[in-house]
Amino acid sequence: MSDCIFCKIAQKELPSEIVYEDDRICVFRDNAPQAPVHVLIIPKKHIASLDDTSEEDAGLLSYILLKVKDIAADQGLADGYRLVVNCGEDGQQTVKHLHFHLLGKRKMTWPPG
Ligand code: 5GP
Ligand code: ZN
Repeated sequence: MSDCIFCKIAQKELPSEIVYEDDRICVFRDNAPQAPVHVLIIPKKHIASLDDTSEEDAGLLSYILLKVKDIAADQGLADGYRLVVNCGEDGQQTVKHLHFHLLGKRKMTWPPG
């Protein structure tokens, strides 16, 4: 999508600190980090939100979830982490390209705000 900032980051048309990428996903540091480690894991394919996924995305979604532990290990999150997906208005999703927040290096609280 031409006006999507996360597509532009994945295509390196916008600067970001990419910490991992392969043919299917891109992982970069959030520019307003909410924890000492805060990276965003995105599919390179433009998908607006979790609500916009379908059966054809099953392989991609499971690929992302299975990659999380490797990305967390690379980020030094041996003591644990939190994975967050905001969806829609009540979920406070602000960027309409599916992303998984990976947060760590601090004790999380519950319930989330
Ligand atoms: P959401 O609120 O949609 O779940 O999360 C969007 C996240 O993207 C926010 O944590 C926000 O700080 C981050 N973000 C928004 N614009 C940019 C950007 O241009 N670069 C980077 N690295 N992060 C961004
Ligand atoms: Zn996009």
